[in-house]
Amino acid sequence: MALESDAALPSLAGAAWLSATPVQRVFAALGGGGEEIRIVGGAVRDSLAGRPVGDIDFATTALPGEVTARAARAGIKAVPTGIEHGTVTLIADGVPFQMTTLREDVETDGRRAVVRFGRDWTADARRRDFTINALSLDADGTVHDPLGGFADIVARRIRFIGDPDRRIAEDRLRILRFFRFNAEFGDGALDAPGLGAAIRARDGLRTLSAERVGQEMRRIVLAPHAAEMLGLMQDCGVLPVILAGVACLGPFSRYLDFERSVDARPSVALRLTAAVCRVAEDVERIADRLRLSNAERDLAAAALAAMPEVPNPGDDRAARHFLYALGEDGEAVFRGAVGLAYAWSEAADPARHAELYRLPDRQPRPAFPLRGRDILGAGAPHGPAVGQLLQALEAWWVDHDFVPDETELRARLQQMMASAQ
Ligand code: ATP
Ligand code: MG
Repeated sequence: MALESDAALPSLAGAAWLSATPVQRVFAALGGGGEEIRIVGGAVRDSLAGRPVGDIDFATTALPGEVTARAARAGIKAVPTGIEHGTVTLIADGVPFQMTTLREDVETDGRRAVVRFGRDWTADARRRDFTINALSLDADGTVHDPLGGFADIVARRIRFIGDPDRRIAEDRLRILRFFRFNAEFGDGALDAPGLGAAIRARDGLRTLSAERVGQEMRRIVLAPHAAEMLGLMQDCGVLPVILAGVACLGPFSRYLDFERSVDARPSVALRLTAAVCRVAEDVERIADRLRLSNAERDLAAAALAAMPEVPNPGDDRAARHFLYALGEDGEAVFRGAVGLAYAWSEAADPARHAELYRLPDRQPRPAFPLRGRDILGAGAPHGPAVGQLLQALEAWWVDHDFVPDETELRARLQQMMASAQ
């Protein structure tokens, strides 16, 4: 324990997220009586780095059965979400926390670690991936840093714990986590031994499931250093293994600039489209390889397909018609297509494209005021003529730039029916 003390190590006593009632309830329920409990991993890292704390994960010396029993006594709900790995989800005051019993590796077969429960916090820290992720925290704010992770947090350096080649051989996802943490958190050049190991092992990425790869890639394209990191992953030959294609780094950077300039909510689907899609088949492949949701796949495909139809900025009439043609829910596609068009046109003026992007705010897509029942009400007979009349009327309305109102449309309908007789 003496080894752990480090004069420069700050305390997190007083951090608001740590003193929150549900967090302290979990500490109180699991601690004491010969058992220890700490917060581990990302929350400690992010808090020490001055970043907002997301999910809070706990580790404990208590065996899963004891965790469940103590939780029940404290009125905390326990769900055995990953009981085979010693993980129980505790729900205190509606807030979920993962509680994992300490583990130690006994041996690994190259793909899967054989583990048993343990009581050694340093051994548990060593099983984690990077030094910045290996710190732990007591209820009173005392930070434990057995592997020197705090210095790396300060330097924003992502270093593997132990030999990078070995750690990657145990779990190839760590290659992507290495790039991901560098994209989210890193500063300056990547740790050379880690990068070398990632490059050497890149072919092993093929063996990972699409879900796991997709989760990491999603975070990489959303991260602050996304463009830089995709560039590096491309140069290192990692991206081609994952995506079976190459990245369009120029358009990706331009797309990010555009997203920022119009204050758009970052979209994984559109960012990936800007980064790696030129034709419809690219979208299918990416959606498949990264397990995009159907909504993401649809948005990516529709925005890419609409991109060539994006009108020139300044032509509001054309922009209104383009928006109308995209249908009732076409606003997201409109905005995505405008962003992609900007990304792909080096000569484009950002301010003028931003104006175009905002057209739906100034001029929301109008709704065609008439329905089939209006056509019937005007005396048209049931049958295909209703649909034909409705379509012709809508085309006339669109042609007149959506100006004619319902009264004018009804008058026009009468004319059309009269001339049809
Ligand atoms: P974030 O939640 O922001 O992604 P995190 O560090 O909490 O960051 P998680 O994926 O939630 O990341 O994992 C929690 C902790 O579990 C990590 O901090 C790390 O200590 C450990 N860990 C997660 N995945 C691995 C892995 N593949 N190999 C080794 N340790 C891992
Ligand atoms: Mg986490």
